[in-house]
Amino acid sequence: MTAAGHARSTPATGTNMPEIDGDRLWADIVSTARFGGTDKGGVTRLTLTEEDRQVRDWFVAECRSLGCMIEVDRIGNIFATYPGEDPSLSPIAVGSHLDTQPQGGRFDGILGVLAGLELIRTLKETATVLRHNLTVVNWTNEEGSRFSPAMMGSGVFAGASRLEAIDAVLDQDGTSVQTALETIGYRGETPVGQVGFAAYVELHIEQGPLLEAAATQIGIVTGVQGVRWFDVAITGTEAHAGSTPMAQRNDALVAASQIVLAVRDIAHRHLPGVGTTGFVAVGPNSRNVVPGAVQLQIDMRHPSEEGLDLMQAALEQIVGAIDAKIALTHIWSKQPVVFDPAIVDAVRASAEALGYSTTEVVSGAGHDAAHIAGICPTAMIFVPSKDGLSHNEAEYSSPEECARGAGVLLQTVLQIDLK
Ligand SMILES: [Zn+2]
Repeated sequence: MTAAGHARSTPATGTNMPEIDGDRLWADIVSTARFGGTDKGGVTRLTLTEEDRQVRDWFVAECRSLGCMIEVDRIGNIFATYPGEDPSLSPIAVGSHLDTQPQGGRFDGILGVLAGLELIRTLKETATVLRHNLTVVNWTNEEGSRFSPAMMGSGVFAGASRLEAIDAVLDQDGTSVQTALETIGYRGETPVGQVGFAAYVELHIEQGPLLEAAATQIGIVTGVQGVRWFDVAITGTEAHAGSTPMAQRNDALVAASQIVLAVRDIAHRHLPGVGTTGFVAVGPNSRNVVPGAVQLQIDMRHPSEEGLDLMQAALEQIVGAIDAKIALTHIWSKQPVVFDPAIVDAVRASAEALGYSTTEVVSGAGHDAAHIAGICPTAMIFVPSKDGLSHNEAEYSSPEECARGAGVLLQTVLQIDLK
């Protein structure tokens, strides 16, 4: 499939910089897919399940064997720290998450953790000693599939949510986060948020089609787009579909249709914004009744707060101009995240030094790095996803793509370490 030379990240400069071993990284990706592996080659490894325990135990054992110190905090985040020269400096952190969606893939999350492990193997093998400690992190429950909200471990770590509240969150079977942590042995002793970082860099698959479409090897992630959610309730008048003349109708679904189209048009006018009406409920939902009530759920996203403001204002204006009784409610939002320019520059310089093609991207999906950006200088590295697929058993990034990402991660850490 691939010769060892292809999967290595070879610096174009030909310096004596340490290089990651892409074949070794790929072997880890293949072998860890057995934890929760599915018949179709995907992975079902929901957070804090037996399968999650197995991959955590494997990760901890590997890191211990390399000489790492392991800490587990109260929300089950794992910190594997490889010692540097100066323990008085805050560690440089890399990592991501080991949990997956149901019928998820082999790359989402675990690539960033395994790349961190590969960095430690490379440092040890080449007897490279950093100034900073290097900490590889596994964040608990990034996916949010079993317990809500997503990005739970990093959220508590960064102070976005309180441990006591999160401990009490229940899954569908009525099991709490705290009980699930205790059951798999990952209710750690370390207080959450006690570990501070000099910087955090997360390698992840893109989970979208842009890098592949542009034939670009590395995505330099400058931030994570913001989100606003709106609920819409439209009240019309239920009436007989045969005996009600067209001029006398008050059709809630016709009004809703104008909003659905407006959401699409607003996004087109505010690119790279995106807008989706993903939920429609029609009452009474009967062929021969003029709809009397419609509910819509709208999701709008944009990399900037100003962009979100403009999109919301446009939506409000259009809704206000429709001749119907409409209640538009802004129910939830998440602010855009802008990553640290110095760390983003380090990622760019690293990718360029390795001779890789790059594109700046704003992440469309949420990531642990979005929380961590609030407490230390943070950035992300993306590698292409085949056909843009993710949260899917067919999710795929090639050995070479994974190796390039890990190579950029290593060079970025080396650059940050110099400062
Ligand atoms: Zn992920």
